[in-house]
Amino acid sequence: MAARRGDGTRAVHGAGAPRPGPLVPPIAQTSTFAFASSAELHRYLEGDEELHLYTRYGNPTLRELEERLAALEGAEDALVLASGMAAATTGLLSLLAPGDEVLCSASVYGGTARLVRELLPRFGFASRFVPFEELAEVGRHAGPRSRALVFESPTNPTLRVVDVARVCAEARRAGLAVFFDNTFASPLVQSPLALGADLVMHSLTKALAGHSDLIGGALCGSRERIAAARDLMKVMGGCLDPHAAFLVLRGLRTLHLRVARQGENALAVARFLESHPKVAAVAYPGLPNHPGHALAAAQMRGFGGVLAFVPRGGLAAAERVYDALELVARAASLGGVETLASLPVHTSHHGWSAEQLAAAGIDPATIRLALGVEDAADLIADLGQALERA
Ligand SMILES: *Cc1c(COP(=O)(O)O)cnc(C)c1O
Repeated sequence: MAARRGDGTRAVHGAGAPRPGPLVPPIAQTSTFAFASSAELHRYLEGDEELHLYTRYGNPTLRELEERLAALEGAEDALVLASGMAAATTGLLSLLAPGDEVLCSASVYGGTARLVRELLPRFGFASRFVPFEELAEVGRHAGPRSRALVFESPTNPTLRVVDVARVCAEARRAGLAVFFDNTFASPLVQSPLALGADLVMHSLTKALAGHSDLIGGALCGSRERIAAARDLMKVMGGCLDPHAAFLVLRGLRTLHLRVARQGENALAVARFLESHPKVAAVAYPGLPNHPGHALAAAQMRGFGGVLAFVPRGGLAAAERVYDALELVARAASLGGVETLASLPVHTSHHGWSAEQLAAAGIDPATIRLALGVEDAADLIADLGQALERA
């Protein structure tokens, strides 16, 4: 299924013999580049890719990261940006012409939902949300000006699994370009381009950088689509800092180890929570009784490092469990080396009414766990003591 083979280490380290010189590529921490002569400047203008003008237009460290990310996603090309949201705004706008409409899954990252619901209409684009259950019939929702479909799988924080290939095929029939956020799964676990997506975005902030110490984003897709997004980025200005790119390149070298460990920890913790008398529900696609388990097993390599659970006793009990955690940090992110707990009603879904939460299938007492790389036994002991004390 995947365009990329193996565990991703080859994609990260590049094909062919190792380059001579420094084992770790040096960082081009510079805003601008000096030319030897007007003749060299002319070579740059004629498209010599070894030459650079100004970091917002191109930088060797950024390019190195783009090539690694394209290899990981099985894409022709990639573009790095200042944040996941810079990737979402620049990427989505690169697909649209004035008056176009965007269709968007009702279960997407909060920032993406706000972009679609609030910002696009302010700038003359139409937008509409499609219920999660109806994504496979997205053609029925498409109008004459519908141009793009935005969706994610697994969903946040409900961990529901969408049939990515089926939804992409249906979107294609309806003439929609598919914009897919692959942050939750990471490129090691899921290859949306191979399943039919047109443009894939990542928050580099999460598993790809992996150490909760920077903000960054990326787009992956065909040469043509990335060129269109790059053109827009140069003017919109959401360029990644070279030092952040250097740190992402460092993170990528252990991506396969971290993602595997996060998945193992998620499964071990999900099994523990599932059998705990004070837990009402656990959502993790790696559990055989999860409604999306078979689909996830078919379209993903592993099940990711995020799970959600609902302690018995409602939101007040969930807050007591959250407050009693001693090893797990109370923080909103995912994909890092530390395990993080968040309360979606107070973070990603803050301000949603009871009806909106119910429609999205979110129990207000949900605790989301984004697993890190700690010892599973330590994580289980921490969650166990927190549930007992709450
Ligand atoms: C974090 C996140 C984003 C936004 O990324 P930033 O780097 O914070 O701008 C988008 N989508 C998903 C799924 C995320 O988890």
